[in-house]
Amino acid sequence: MGSSTVKAVAVISGLDNVKGFIHFLQHTSGPHFNPLNKAHGCPIDEERHAGDLGNILAGSDGVAEISITDKQIPLSGQHSILGRAVVVHADPDDLGRGGHQLSKTTGNAGARVGCGYFTLELHKHAQK
Ligand SMILES: [Zn+2]
Repeated sequence: MGSSTVKAVAVISGLDNVKGFIHFLQHTSGPHFNPLNKAHGCPIDEERHAGDLGNILAGSDGVAEISITDKQIPLSGQHSILGRAVVVHADPDDLGRGGHQLSKTTGNAGARVGCGYFTLELHKHAQK
């Protein structure tokens, strides 16, 4: 798989409506999601890591609103991204074209400044 992510979940329940989940992810090296063993690239490239989603741009208020459509990051099946992390880097991703020694592996995108992960979103139906 080439994955170094260790996952765990804690299920919490208690009095009344106290309940929830805490998910844990442990990364040993944090490589890009790359099930097809390709080089780093741009979302529209044939040669790219499946996890390469390109650059986002924040407004002057620091808020970035994004909507990304992508064919290589399914929510089910062998290459599902559920349980994998999404990482925001500090610097622009050179999309594999920068000529830096890191261009073909990380896009030379600098420090990791944010992280979240994909989980199934479950909708609870209102009780009657
Ligand atoms: Zn990549």
